[in-house]
Amino acid sequence: MQEIKFYSGEEIPLELHKVRVVQKLHLVPIERRLEALQEGGFNTFRLNTKDVFLDMLTDSGTNAMSDNQMAAMMQADDAYAGSQSFYRLQKAVEEVLGKKYYLPVHQGRAAENILSKAYIKQGSLVPMNYHFTTTLAHITECGGRIVELLYDEGYVMNSDHPFKGNMNIEKLEENIKRHGAKNIPFIRMEASTNLIGGQPFSIQNLRDVRAIADKYNIRLVLDASLLGENAYLVKLREKEFNDSSMETIIKTMTDMADIVYFSARKLSSSRGGGICTNNEAIYKELEALVPLYEGFLTYGGISVREIESMAVGLYETLDETMICQSPEFIRYLVNELDKNGVPMLKPAGVLGAHLDAMDICSHIPQTQYPAGALAAALFLISGIRGMERGSVSNQRDEYGNETYADMELVRLAVPRRVFTLSQIKYVIDRVSWLNQNRTLIGGLKFVYEPPVLRFFMGGLEPVDDWPQKLIAKFKEDFGESL
Ligand SMILES: *Cc1c(COP(=O)(O)O)cnc(C)c1O
Repeated sequence: MQEIKFYSGEEIPLELHKVRVVQKLHLVPIERRLEALQEGGFNTFRLNTKDVFLDMLTDSGTNAMSDNQMAAMMQADDAYAGSQSFYRLQKAVEEVLGKKYYLPVHQGRAAENILSKAYIKQGSLVPMNYHFTTTLAHITECGGRIVELLYDEGYVMNSDHPFKGNMNIEKLEENIKRHGAKNIPFIRMEASTNLIGGQPFSIQNLRDVRAIADKYNIRLVLDASLLGENAYLVKLREKEFNDSSMETIIKTMTDMADIVYFSARKLSSSRGGGICTNNEAIYKELEALVPLYEGFLTYGGISVREIESMAVGLYETLDETMICQSPEFIRYLVNELDKNGVPMLKPAGVLGAHLDAMDICSHIPQTQYPAGALAAALFLISGIRGMERGSVSNQRDEYGNETYADMELVRLAVPRRVFTLSQIKYVIDRVSWLNQNRTLIGGLKFVYEPPVLRFFMGGLEPVDDWPQKLIAKFKEDFGESL
């Protein structure tokens, strides 16, 4: 981003947009927030937004849309087949992602479903830099397994490594030799690796992965849901690309993948998704599954209005002043919390700030879900809704045993152009207060555990009366303040 200096010397990210449509927020009293937690099984996914002040659950489908995206929705061509809106989107995919075949799907996981149905068999192994929840669920559902191949630094919480999402090339080759290339339907690289804190991979690393894929003749699949932000961090952190345009960086990445898929809830600030390729044979293999699971090939389960906004949103991904907004706010949030001594995942990545619940709640054993507890406690004392990204988000193994996450994180998502800087300052204030009163936070236990993707609808409860104690301390320090 073009650096904009303040004469005062203060270093803050400046909003490069104006706000023209607004939505009222509700900050309800702390007693009501406790009731809301009880009603929602101490699971922030189950809260109703009428009780939420700052919704930092996710960036999925919550990025602010631009005036041009909204305007484009008005020219939607509602047709079941052959809609002009679809052809506009197809053109955007080709121009931005450089792929001429595009299959629309209703969201990112639908692309994963189709790829898994087409390529995963009993015994298949998919090497990846790191899993995403829905990716893993679809691959295992089809009888496959995954292996995660980050370098050790990818798991280091407090680091200054610029590319923690890089794939370990030696381990990749080792795994291919051990399991046999024929059992590996594809290698998967995830841009801005979500579950390890929105951490990017470098283009050099992707080149190295591509070379191995070529050597063993294995397809390379790129999960491009967070591609724009990965490209922005490549521009900032990878010397070769410091002066390159977003367009060049994005194309350099997508050109290396045989298949690119994405959630448009993230990539293009709309709602939808897609799979794209330049390989006709691959397109043909996947094509038949779209009408079966999604809808006809020219809408794929996406509303036609959203198709129009996706097309515009894809082009806007190339605008650095748009794409920089969320990462720059995140960097500010992470740095300020860090200065206040809050244990954080570093360096700042994309998508959101990530609190290190393993450290903040080191007195809570992993069996009592420290990240889930921290997310609930933060909502209780602030109305800020974050997301548990720790053991609650893990799935049980094939024998039904609990598996514990490598990292216990609470993610505070910063969707594009949604929050103002004073709201971010409120987050810094409340999180810092909670960190100082961390010992008052207690553990959680499951009372209702769904068999798949349990974190979405699961219900938990506190192991003792710690929420009441936290409320008492809050009242002591904040008086009648909300
Ligand atoms: C969100 C996400 C998905 C799934 O997309 P949905 O639209 O939520 O189904 C897949 N991969 C990554 C990296 C994501 O961030």
